[in-house]
Amino acid sequence: MVALLHVDADSFFASVALRSRPHLRERPVAAAAHVIITSANYPARARGVHSAMLVADALAACPELVVIDVPQAEIEETAEALFDVFHDIARTVEPGSIEEAFLDVGTDDPGEAAMVGHALRRRVAQQLGIPVSVGVGSTKLIAKLASRAAKPDGLHVIDAAEEARLRTELPSSDIWGVGPKTLERLKRLGVLRIGDIDHVPAAELQRECGTLMARRLRQIREGTDDANLRPVEHRTTLSAGGSIAGYARADKSPTALATESVARACHRAERAGLVASGLTLTLAPEHGGRIIQLKQALPDPTNSAAEWTPVATRLLAATSVPLLSTLTVTLTGLQSAHRVAPTLF
Ligand SMILES: [Mg+2]
Repeated sequence: MVALLHVDADSFFASVALRSRPHLRERPVAAAAHVIITSANYPARARGVHSAMLVADALAACPELVVIDVPQAEIEETAEALFDVFHDIARTVEPGSIEEAFLDVGTDDPGEAAMVGHALRRRVAQQLGIPVSVGVGSTKLIAKLASRAAKPDGLHVIDAAEEARLRTELPSSDIWGVGPKTLERLKRLGVLRIGDIDHVPAAELQRECGTLMARRLRQIREGTDDANLRPVEHRTTLSAGGSIAGYARADKSPTALATESVARACHRAERAGLVASGLTLTLAPEHGGRIIQLKQALPDPTNSAAEWTPVATRLLAATSVPLLSTLTVTLTGLQSAHRVAPTLF
């Protein structure tokens, strides 16, 4: 048995925004991209504010809410620094999102894993100034349930006794990967908690939920669910971006934002020793219109902003660009700068 860590930053976007505004920490604060809340701190959550909510609805629920634009450049930098810490501490890292990962720290002992988790939390707090919660468990699902129990700003170990209880009593709605449709089907079968599958004939469970989900549920019940981490060996894309307008004010032109974002993406690629062969611009129109993607490749891979900026500018100039909420620049086809043969002349 392994002791895996699941590490997850608490209200990541809001926490990053609060670093330079410590006087707001006890007040309800949310980070927003355009008109959508992307992250709310705990005082805001206590007042009914949550991510994916419209800013207008959040302000109606909590008039004292302080809304801060997502500091996109700072978010990207902090997420990268967070993963640097993960890679420094763990022997294997499986990213879940930009601010969340499973870590194998090379021990089977939950107590030892917890010590590493405490040290990691201290280091992230000191170096990056943000809270992360850590869960320790024998499988990915159990570690993830542990980090959820640890929030906010805590560490929780799910020991053998708690794990045994969870493998009987875990509500179907808390099973990672079970969506609303499966949840409805499980309810029809009388499966409100994982242990309830004992009373459902295997064929019926399979018919209702599909082969894969039925197998997964049985594995969770038996304790043979996934404990293998899949590291991302080679990073192939890298994105930078931001929102153009906040709350009905256009503060940047698409070209200005693309130029800034190209510069940031190129800077990060350079620091990571990577060069890109392609660039994708992702344009999200205002009012939830259809996402537009514009792509261009260069014959010689590069991380030079001087080469990619005109590419982005030309792509924008050749398109009738609608009013945008966000624009993202993605460098694609990344490869190590050392592996690219130098031009011979
Ligand atoms: Mg998080």
